[in-house]
Amino acid sequence: MSPGFSSAGFPLSPHVATGDSVRDKCIEMLAAALRTDSENSFFLDHLVAHIYQEIKATDMKYKNRVRSRISNLKDPKNPGLRRNVLAGSIDLHRIATMSAEEMASDELKQLRNVLTQEAIREHQMAKTGGTTTDLLQCGKCKKKNCTYNQVQTRSADEPMTTFVLCNECGNRWKFC
Ligand SMILES: [Zn+2]
Repeated sequence: MSPGFSSAGFPLSPHVATGDSVRDKCIEMLAAALRTDSENSFFLDHLVAHIYQEIKATDMKYKNRVRSRISNLKDPKNPGLRRNVLAGSIDLHRIATMSAEEMASDELKQLRNVLTQEAIREHQMAKTGGTTTDLLQCGKCKKKNCTYNQVQTRSADEPMTTFVLCNECGNRWKFC
């Protein structure tokens, strides 16, 4: 489907553009709130798609939903939200549906407990570098240039979880 993310134009590369002007504008504003360029904001089209799926229109309700995400992402009192979104440690569906209270710092602290383990593993992967392989294919950009780490997530007699990072587009996933 998508041709990869190497030829990123600014503000939106063609594969990020949804063809819907409201949705494209929302992606643009979210990218600005995250202070990231289009190369790192490819996941934002999934985020606005999640919101669209729920609201099923690009009406006022839709715009308000996007706007509340933006104001929280820009909130200087809540740097953790932006960081977690950029790190991919909050599920996109969750970002799409979080209430204002949930996005606020205190709620995030609780959420962080759940996410900490995962973040530690990701950090370990970044630190150790993991193992580069051309045997795993990225579901997003279809290229075969990935780094993986295997981690014992549960008890010792259960299978290892493999964390994979696509070196081409930054897509992350895991499997057992
Ligand atoms: Zn990829």
